[in-house]
Amino acid sequence: MQINLISDTVTKPSEGMLQAMMNAQVGDDVFKADPTVNRLEERVAGLFGMDRALFFPSGTMANQCAIKAHTQPGDQLVCDKYAHVYNYEGGGVAFNSGVTCSLVDGHRGMITAEQVKAAMNPYDFYHSPKSALVCLENTTNKGGGACWDVEEMKQIRGVCDENGLGFHLDGARLWNALIAKDESPRLYGELFDTISVCFSKGLGCPVGSVLVGKDALIEKAFRIRKVLGGGMRQSGYLAAACLYALENNVTRLEEDHTKAKEIAKVLDGLDFVSNVEPVETNIIIFNLDQTVSDEVFLEALKQKGVSIIGMGQGKLRMVTHMDYTTDMHLHLMEILKKFDIKKAS
Ligand SMILES: *Cc1c(COP(=O)(O)O)cnc(C)c1O
Repeated sequence: MQINLISDTVTKPSEGMLQAMMNAQVGDDVFKADPTVNRLEERVAGLFGMDRALFFPSGTMANQCAIKAHTQPGDQLVCDKYAHVYNYEGGGVAFNSGVTCSLVDGHRGMITAEQVKAAMNPYDFYHSPKSALVCLENTTNKGGGACWDVEEMKQIRGVCDENGLGFHLDGARLWNALIAKDESPRLYGELFDTISVCFSKGLGCPVGSVLVGKDALIEKAFRIRKVLGGGMRQSGYLAAACLYALENNVTRLEEDHTKAKEIAKVLDGLDFVSNVEPVETNIIIFNLDQTVSDEVFLEALKQKGVSIIGMGQGKLRMVTHMDYTTDMHLHLMEILKKFDIKKAS
């Protein structure tokens, strides 16, 4: 049995999703004439109670277009040191927008309003880069799938309002946070200027992200998406998968969270595992103690058909998802419980 917990992006479209894609009504979305893309964009804008939404081929492009729409070259954005926009988008903030990042040393990828105030430059201090944008991430990826406290986000919104800063949410895994905390998308629509959400993570779609936000910003992002080569033609086939996922694959995320918590509990009981970060959603981050190297552990798991990845700095990561079945789950728990580290090393 092969078990792949490298990411929640490894899922393949289900029969039902493929059927929905096959049956999609399509047109040329570059002319805004694809009825299924239009329906998805309206649906997501409605869910968040925001003006308008735009379909993207990737979460990275959605974030990058949002950052470009919010900033001018030379500006600075404020984010946590673990932020995906800083660490995992190929330096795109510099390449595409010509902006720098003021990094905050947050807790599990989450920062406070006080830290934002300290990290931004005063508007009239013209020697420093102009602070223009605050980017948050929910759930946090490198922070181990942690979910934000709404009150803290509201405080940060206040700091943005006082200082004329834009407020963007990288919500690649926002669906997980909504389910874990039983929150409504509208709550986020009221707080942020722009929000990106992914359909190719926990929701099981092959491709697709949406940027939702205020009209003027989405209008700018529409033009920027074109510049980056993100205008797609009969993309309704992909949007159909996203609409299917919204109907069928959101509430089931609870199951991924339960499995992740069960795995964390087993890991916590292994004597060569030194630390398991608290699990709130579908990401498990843990560290090994000195007796075993990450490479040896990863290779020994691989021999047993289990793939997971390292995130650097000694962090190992497993991510549960909809193609990780209950049979796989029971099998993995047995492998972990019986794991003989002496034999492996
Ligand atoms: C995956 C991810 C993205 C976007 O990734 P793509 O692979 O470009 O879709 C953005 N932010 C976070 C936090 C992510 O985990």
